[in-house]
Amino acid sequence: MISYPDYLDKIQPYKPGKPIDEVRRELGLNEVIKLASNENPFGCSLFVKKAVEKHVTEINLYPDGGCYYLRKELSNFTGVDGENFIFGNGSNEIIDLIGRAFLTGGKEALAFEGSFIVYKLITTISGGLFKEVPLEKDYSRDLNKLLESITPKTSVIFLDNPCNPTGFANTKEEFEEFLKNVPNNVLVVLDEAYYEYGKGSGLPDGINYILGLNPEIKNKNLIVLRTFSKAYGLAGLRIGYGVSNKKIISILEKVRQPFNVNYLGQIAAVEALKDQKFVEFSVEQNEKGKLQIYEGLEVLGIRFFPTYGNFVMFEVKNPEFVYSELLKKGVVIRPAFGFKNGLRVSIGREDQNEIFLDSLRKILSKSPP
Ligand code: PMP
Repeated sequence: MISYPDYLDKIQPYKPGKPIDEVRRELGLNEVIKLASNENPFGCSLFVKKAVEKHVTEINLYPDGGCYYLRKELSNFTGVDGENFIFGNGSNEIIDLIGRAFLTGGKEALAFEGSFIVYKLITTISGGLFKEVPLEKDYSRDLNKLLESITPKTSVIFLDNPCNPTGFANTKEEFEEFLKNVPNNVLVVLDEAYYEYGKGSGLPDGINYILGLNPEIKNKNLIVLRTFSKAYGLAGLRIGYGVSNKKIISILEKVRQPFNVNYLGQIAAVEALKDQKFVEFSVEQNEKGKLQIYEGLEVLGIRFFPTYGNFVMFEVKNPEFVYSELLKKGVVIRPAFGFKNGLRVSIGREDQNEIFLDSLRKILSKSPP
């Protein structure tokens, strides 16, 4: 008998949103829209496409393990020193590195209930213990409760802001008050995967704390996670990064694989960063799509939760039924893990949102919300 750690028995492998091809094959459908993985429905920058085409002949070469050009570009873009970055195969990989470096041997991680599911997965896989802090009745998050739950055993706190799947986010003031009170031996992971969508809405901008712009917040162990998978539209190339103090980065570098960020991904990310017009366009369209989905759900009498991301969580009496009926109609959304009645739809293009709402209307005429 092969032996392996007991804690792996607790793991349910991550279930991603169903790929379009799989739904086509399984259900014999031609037209399928995927609003399941918070991808950018407008694709990516044209400059990225051109650069990837130009460099595709070079994929026989290993990538630069140090991400020299991307590091330089991001350093210019954010004002943070290049040595304060670590790059990953998606920001998921940075979560994995955090687990490997800080959560082995029964160390504890804290997060709110219903946080991004990967935090629990990685903590458990790393041999750590995952502790959850309850949400408020309306699924908002009281950061004081997170503070009260810290014990001498707490090593890492994960905070997705906004939260995937609820879309709730804490304000800058709430976060700063929280950060000031976190003990200096705890690593706070501020996951800003949806940063671009919530920018300018009173949310914290984690990089400002790395830059030391708030003199009241000093000597904290904070790592900010960002990604090129969402507003930049590069989910398929898998590039994310963490920004932190040099000590934390140097620890994470010890557990990183040598060539973890692929060749085309690095080229694409550099170009994507230069094309902020595409990001602005994507964010603007997301705002319109958000209102379209809110209005549509309201008309149907469905409870939904205002979002700071590119997705909306809503509740129905029978989520499995609604999910599978939508699938039959070629609309792929996703269960909102951790929320009994919750479903999560990514905000798509106007035509996709309309198809989603129209399909939902038809399904609910058979089984009201
Ligand atoms: N954090 C959050 C909150 C997310 O929703 C996601 C994507 N679903 C990620 C991190 C990981 O994104 P990626 O690995 O594509 O950068």
